[in-house]
Amino acid sequence: MTIEGQINTLRKELQQHNYAYYVLDNPTISDYEFDMKLKTLQELEMKHPEFYDANSPTLRVGGQITKNFETIVHEYRMYSLDNSYSREDLLDWETRIKKQVDGEVQYSCELKYDGASISLTYEKGVLIRAVTRGDGFQGDDVTNNIKTIKTVPLKLQGRYPDKFAIRGEIILPFDGFKKMNEERVAAGEEPYANPRNTASGSLKLQDSTEVAKRPLACLLYNLTGDNLGVESQMESLEKAREWGFKVPDAAKLANSIDEVLEFVNYWDEQRHNLPYETDGVVIKVNNLQQQEELGYTAKAPRWAMAYKFQTEQAESVLKEITYQIGRTGAITPVANLEPVQLAGTTVRRASLHNADQIAKLDIRVHDTVYVEKGGEIIPKIVGVNLTERAVDSLPTVYISECPECTTTLIRNEGEAQHYCPNVTGCPPQIVGRIQHFISRKAMDIEGLGGETVALLVKEGLITNYADLYELTVEQLLPLERMAQKSAENLVAGVAKSKEIPFERVLFALGIRYVGETVAKKLVKHFKTITAIMNASEEALVSVDEIGIRIAQSVREFFSLEVTRIIIERLRQYGVQLEISAEELAGQTALLQGEVYVVSGVFHKISRTELKKLIENNGGKVSTSISARTSFVIAGDKMGPSKLEKADKLGIPLLSEDEFLEKVMFEA
Ligand code: AMP
Ligand code: ZN
Repeated sequence: MTIEGQINTLRKELQQHNYAYYVLDNPTISDYEFDMKLKTLQELEMKHPEFYDANSPTLRVGGQITKNFETIVHEYRMYSLDNSYSREDLLDWETRIKKQVDGEVQYSCELKYDGASISLTYEKGVLIRAVTRGDGFQGDDVTNNIKTIKTVPLKLQGRYPDKFAIRGEIILPFDGFKKMNEERVAAGEEPYANPRNTASGSLKLQDSTEVAKRPLACLLYNLTGDNLGVESQMESLEKAREWGFKVPDAAKLANSIDEVLEFVNYWDEQRHNLPYETDGVVIKVNNLQQQEELGYTAKAPRWAMAYKFQTEQAESVLKEITYQIGRTGAITPVANLEPVQLAGTTVRRASLHNADQIAKLDIRVHDTVYVEKGGEIIPKIVGVNLTERAVDSLPTVYISECPECTTTLIRNEGEAQHYCPNVTGCPPQIVGRIQHFISRKAMDIEGLGGETVALLVKEGLITNYADLYELTVEQLLPLERMAQKSAENLVAGVAKSKEIPFERVLFALGIRYVGETVAKKLVKHFKTITAIMNASEEALVSVDEIGIRIAQSVREFFSLEVTRIIIERLRQYGVQLEISAEELAGQTALLQGEVYVVSGVFHKISRTELKKLIENNGGKVSTSISARTSFVIAGDKMGPSKLEKADKLGIPLLSEDEFLEKVMFEA
């Protein structure tokens, strides 16, 4: 096959796998195989820029930077929707419709996805532009970012119109949102408030690589254009689905307003089981001819209506505002409420986010406040019932000093959060940092829990994580509820953590913005803590995926005298502060320039380990045998077609043992 042929075949294949995985939720290939194919394609494209295609699946990973998003005038205006809240509202709407159109009216009922709206334009089956709603007349061209969203087809399948636009909602499903927030919290960052804002914020990121990392999805609901060859809304949803778009299958046809209400009531309950946020139902006149007759008001189509679900809200009295201090010193104000029932749970506390939020809502102690539970895990205060406010009530004055250590708080330019800068002397920061250090994903110290850490700090036995390594059984025994056995376990657990690999140690140090992934990247690049400590900002940013914010934070952390002292102590105790000799030894240039194909079943080591060995020794792994292949590592049950191909191209086969000998012996 020609190179161009290979490239096209891979592109088609990957496109199909993406579709199966993201749109149909039905993977047809393992993640590993997918990655390998993608890598092969990337390599081919790199070598052959002449076959560039703006819609290649490789561009899903991003890479394009947009400094200023271009403003694009929508060819068809993106309208808003009118809202209804009751059966009466809907019946009124129906009466207005029936005055304007003849014949039966049927309604399509769809869920109202809560995200950011987007308009996608396709020509000849290829995505050519993605524009945000903006003010409805014009929006921003965010095509590069949208291309990274796997549920957006870059090329269509089936029989589609030559040119059309399709509208949908960019959403962030709950599980992806939760995962993103877990990573942020682990890196000492403020979690995102809700999926909707995070989704819409994502569209305007300048670096599309960042967008690619966010688990966004796109749900489609409206076709726009001339001569689309469809007659109803339901049919257009069906068609869009056929062409490869993700169209949720909740949509239903209703013959009357009462049937519409059945749909609404059903989903008002069931929406809690959906993997993403919805804030209501959208009802549309199904017949497109009738839609056209109905037309638009200044703001919204007359043929569509949103029906908003009641948000779960309750009223309660704000008793007190307290302030929590995180391990990085970030202050979070917390509302302490009169206990109230909300969506099946008793709510006592709600997040107030930051000083701006309190000022914006003018929330005061003793106020009667509205509490809501949206997609967020922690309930939030959405407003104040001013009719209940006492005449002598005073505005909230945000704290200016740390409630725990009285240090004057700081607030950095462009950040919403206040910080207590007393890194080494502020008790909750001390405790928080040590708790992070011992946590499961970090040093995973057995026999030591968060509460014991707090106790140890309170008793003055430790003030930083290095102190853990000097704890003795004798010191621990006098502590409350500390038996001989548990004291021994604790000390043994601490000693055992000296085996934890460097990348986890680096994460455990609790440097702001250095989560698990960043720690891995830094370790892989710099190999030792000394190298990281001495790395300049430029050297840090030169590492793949390390941005200026992370670089600055790393610099700041290591420039502190205390940090250096603590690191030196950890080194003396024997904590791993560089890549292990084994790992380092594994990194050779032994197989430089060689391309391997691995096929069949192996016995001594797994496929993944085999692949790692090849890569650690500078070799490349490819999935298909070609003239470029240097060796095929053949396991049991290697496919006959692969064998034949290797034979035909004269590519030498290595057995598992032969390969192992090659790397082990020569290395
Ligand atoms: P609103 O922003 O409250 O005026 O609601 C209008 C928005 O709802 C539209 O701009 C769409 O982005 C969004 N929307 C979500 N789901 C749907 C749907 N199934 N049909 C139409 N619009 C929808
Ligand atoms: Zn403090």
